[in-house]
Amino acid sequence: MLQSSKPEIEIALSGVNKWYGSYHALADINLEIAKKERIVICGPSGSGKSTLIRCINRLEVHQQGIITVGGIVLNEDEENIKDVRREVGMVFQHFNLFPHLTVLQNCILAPVWVRKLSKPKATEIAMHFLERVRIPEQADKFPGQLSGGQQQRVAIARALCMSPRVMLFDEPTSALDPEMVKEVLDTMVSLAQEGMTMICVTHEMGFARQVADRVIFMDQGRVVEEAPPTEFFDNPQNERSRLFLSQILH
Ligand code: ADP
Ligand code: MG
Repeated sequence: MLQSSKPEIEIALSGVNKWYGSYHALADINLEIAKKERIVICGPSGSGKSTLIRCINRLEVHQQGIITVGGIVLNEDEENIKDVRREVGMVFQHFNLFPHLTVLQNCILAPVWVRKLSKPKATEIAMHFLERVRIPEQADKFPGQLSGGQQQRVAIARALCMSPRVMLFDEPTSALDPEMVKEVLDTMVSLAQEGMTMICVTHEMGFARQVADRVIFMDQGRVVEEAPPTEFFDNPQNERSRLFLSQILH
């Protein structure tokens, strides 16, 4: 078989538009994300970053255009949506752990109910990932007994327990006290180094420089610039990117 030099596409958005009522939240988004590619999305508040990544696991519904994940088209077909969600892990700004379940119970819930793993198998996998994020000793605590940084690492472990092919992060460190940002970023860096396909909405420029293959800058629902991090940070081409960078870097 001929070896193709073209990277395999994991996520594709073609002519995607989304409105909230009459508000045009995503305008003509065209993006291709290759397997193992690491993307950082940044841009001003309200520019559509969360909306964009939420459309990728159909937490939000787009009205126009085509989104495919692992070749599966995201449309109203419930089976397709389930298939995509099984492969896409998501980590939110505010952790979204179940407060009435322990750390371990949070981690085994979806593997048992969605992946149909046995409880012992799911527990073994959960403990593996809790060790990965360096908090196995917190397994029997409730989220409210943990620091923000620990909760966010549980949220990452929980997502990993489903063996996702893609991880979406929506400002995972922006609700954390400064001293906890590093422990979460370190976890994300190590994931990135293992070859996970990742899309991270973040303004952590050090992280972007260290791991991103590409930075996508959004403004007013549009992708206005896409470039490798060194180009984007050192020599932004778009006037709005320049303005944004001057605001967050000073
Ligand atoms: P960002 O993540 O870049 O801050 P969002 O994707 O959250 O931006 O929001 C983009 C725009 O869409 C904002 O103007 C926001 O107010 C609006 N928006 C987001 N979610 C909703 C919603 N559920 N209903 C109506 N408008 C929304
Ligand atoms: Mg957002």
